[in-house]
Amino acid sequence: MQARELKICEILTVGTELLLGEILNTNARFLCKELAAMGIGVQRVLTVGDNPARLREDFLQALGRSDIVLCSGGLGPTPDDLTKEVVCEALGLPLAEDAAQRQAIKAFFARHGAPCSNNNFKQALVPQGCTVLYNENGTAPGCCLRTDEGKIVALLPGPPRELQPMFIGALRPLLRGKSSGAIVSHHLRTYGIGESRLAALAAPWLACQNPTVAPYAKDGEAYLRITAAAPTNEAAEALCAPVLAELQNLLKAFVYSVDKNLSASVLHLLKSQAKTISFAESCTGGAVAKSLTDLPGASEVFGYGFVCYANEAKQRLLGVAPTTLATHGAVSAECAEAMAHGARAQSGADLAVSVTGVAGPSAQGTNKPAGLVYLAATNGNQTLHRQLNTGRDDRDYNRTVATKAALHLAWQLLTIS
Ligand code: AMP
Ligand code: MG
Repeated sequence: MQARELKICEILTVGTELLLGEILNTNARFLCKELAAMGIGVQRVLTVGDNPARLREDFLQALGRSDIVLCSGGLGPTPDDLTKEVVCEALGLPLAEDAAQRQAIKAFFARHGAPCSNNNFKQALVPQGCTVLYNENGTAPGCCLRTDEGKIVALLPGPPRELQPMFIGALRPLLRGKSSGAIVSHHLRTYGIGESRLAALAAPWLACQNPTVAPYAKDGEAYLRITAAAPTNEAAEALCAPVLAELQNLLKAFVYSVDKNLSASVLHLLKSQAKTISFAESCTGGAVAKSLTDLPGASEVFGYGFVCYANEAKQRLLGVAPTTLATHGAVSAECAEAMAHGARAQSGADLAVSVTGVAGPSAQGTNKPAGLVYLAATNGNQTLHRQLNTGRDDRDYNRTVATKAALHLAWQLLTIS
């Protein structure tokens, strides 16, 4: 099925600070996500500095290729903010003062008790004939206009707290109905398989056109994104469904969910089984509990956990035997198991998961390497063990993958029992 009605969009993010790596291009991410949800296909995101010649060139190229061009940034009062001027010049449109915008600027400064300088009124100038997108969180208005060829151009301010409400409140309603298509994405989430092996197994599907299938690697896990475009949501879902089912079957040893991340999957299982969980964390320092409690509704399944960094804490709060620590060390399968049993007994939760390891970068006085992590999960009847050896001295990475391993071990215990 062809998604013939799908409009093609390009995003042009403007600002030298983006090219210097000083700020993250969160406007591109926000706009891409919003537009995809509306069935508007973003084919390119361009970033250009505050340079009028290059901005003009990129804008005209984008406009030549696309039905819709959205620009972010460069609408401020300072001389480096040139987007409006450059776009108007490129389209042969004059700038005209918008009386309501002039009043809005005056009122904004009065409200904030700040003096209003003349260059602020530069922001009352808008492309002639455009729809002004008034800015409730700043002084730079946005605008939306239709070119002689019927293409849509919109200019949005750079600051995300201005751009986002303006897009949602003012531009999105104008773009709605500009695409009668829908774009639907699903994520087949896997654990325990690397991106390259995932890609090799899924190779025949990676060549698909609609839906498209693409592998992504994340620290400690990998997923396949399946995206379809069709005239309606239902039709896009129908295109995804068989491919999703085939891949789910092919990768069933590794798939833990469609769409839900690890913590959401664990929360869902705990709720549906009416079970509670506790965590005993050493090297993750509470990150496992944080991942779960980041989600609303966590209080139904989680009362408390333990962050026991020092051996003394492992003994006192979790009842790990001094002989276990003396014989095997804190970073050991024996200690992980004792921590899990201790957390379960102390908290009264149905399940407990423990994690103890060397986060790095150095081995911190043990003879064990950075990246060595032991985990255990128990429900009283069954106890699962896992050992990670990342071979890396990257503290953030080791703690991230240890957190995911703990959640995945909980997932495993909840799905086997
Ligand atoms: P401007 O409208 O170009 O004056 O941008 C003002 C501020 O908005 C910049 O200093 C950035 O902090 C922020 N900003 C601009 N472009 C982006 C972007 N693409 N993503 C996130 N923040 C941005
Ligand atoms: Mg700028």
